[in-house]
Amino acid sequence: MPLPSAEPAPDSDVYRTLLESTKAIPWRIDWKTLRFTYIGPQIETLLGWTPDSWATVEDWAARMHPEDRERVVNFCVSQSQAGTDHEADYRALTAGGGYVWIRDVVHVVRKEGEVEALIGFMFDISERKATEEQLLTLQQELEALSYRDGLTGVANRRMFDTVFDLEWARARQNRQPLSVILADVDHFKEYNDHYGHLAGDDSLKLVAQALGSAAARARDFVARFGGEEFAIVLPEADAAAGSLIAERCRQAIAELAIPHAAIGGRLSISLGVGTLIPNAEDDPRRFLDQVDGALYAAKDRGRDRVESV
Ligand code: GH3
Ligand code: MG
Ligand code: MG
Repeated sequence: MPLPSAEPAPDSDVYRTLLESTKAIPWRIDWKTLRFTYIGPQIETLLGWTPDSWATVEDWAARMHPEDRERVVNFCVSQSQAGTDHEADYRALTAGGGYVWIRDVVHVVRKEGEVEALIGFMFDISERKATEEQLLTLQQELEALSYRDGLTGVANRRMFDTVFDLEWARARQNRQPLSVILADVDHFKEYNDHYGHLAGDDSLKLVAQALGSAAARARDFVARFGGEEFAIVLPEADAAAGSLIAERCRQAIAELAIPHAAIGGRLSISLGVGTLIPNAEDDPRRFLDQVDGALYAAKDRGRDRVESV
């Protein structure tokens, strides 16, 4: 309801009561001296520090989580200098040694073009942050539970472990050969450095697809093993078939013809391949280590090539 203009303006007691009865904590900083000229008494309820212990901007910065300090102080200073209203989330230290998530909402007061003061409110956002963190953990758990790699769409490491164990058991039971390929993109760090991480992501998707086409029998199985490394399980493939498919994978990536200017060539992969008919003495993890050894030999011997165990 608008105040009738005949009514006297509310006096500063009214403002004070309003300010000090809200949950948000009001404050004012004089820009010239960088000192607090006001901070709401609610600060003591929230953080345990008395209002008169908030004297300077340094007091504010000092009572901030060390991991947040540089980012937040730099951001707030540059925004204030530019005369831009802004907000920042950070963890504020309590007198008891704990931390509370705060959102500081800052209005820059200018007089004749010059920054005169900062006026703001601190909000306690710890509950919201706790919910956000719970959601994040939940999302990570869901990703781990799912069987697809989010980026490339092929199976993830978890699925690989399951399928590899299963095929190992089957091969052992049926006395059939089992081949496994480990493939790693060559000079991929330089690729990212040169084209950017997003372009790197796009190329990983293409590599995954190409590997899927190269190992295309019904039970052939391609997974992202981690980072820029892929694993392929080839049931009932003897050493000759394993090497053949590994070579086909290498060619498939070469045919993508993805430029890799940083090395003056094209994107390539190195591969290690191993084959065995597992028996009781064989250890699946040791077998994978051996295939990994072959992959490293391929790297050592110049990359863009296949080496067998
Ligand atoms: P090498 O030929 O010896 O394999 O060299 P490399 O540079 O490929 O190997 P290194 O292990 O030094 O670097 C791997 C790089 O792969 C670094 C990392 O940032 C990148 N990478 C891993 N996962 C991803 C991803 O999901 N996306 C992108 N864009 N890059 C990734
Ligand atoms: Mg690599
Ligand atoms: Mg690697």
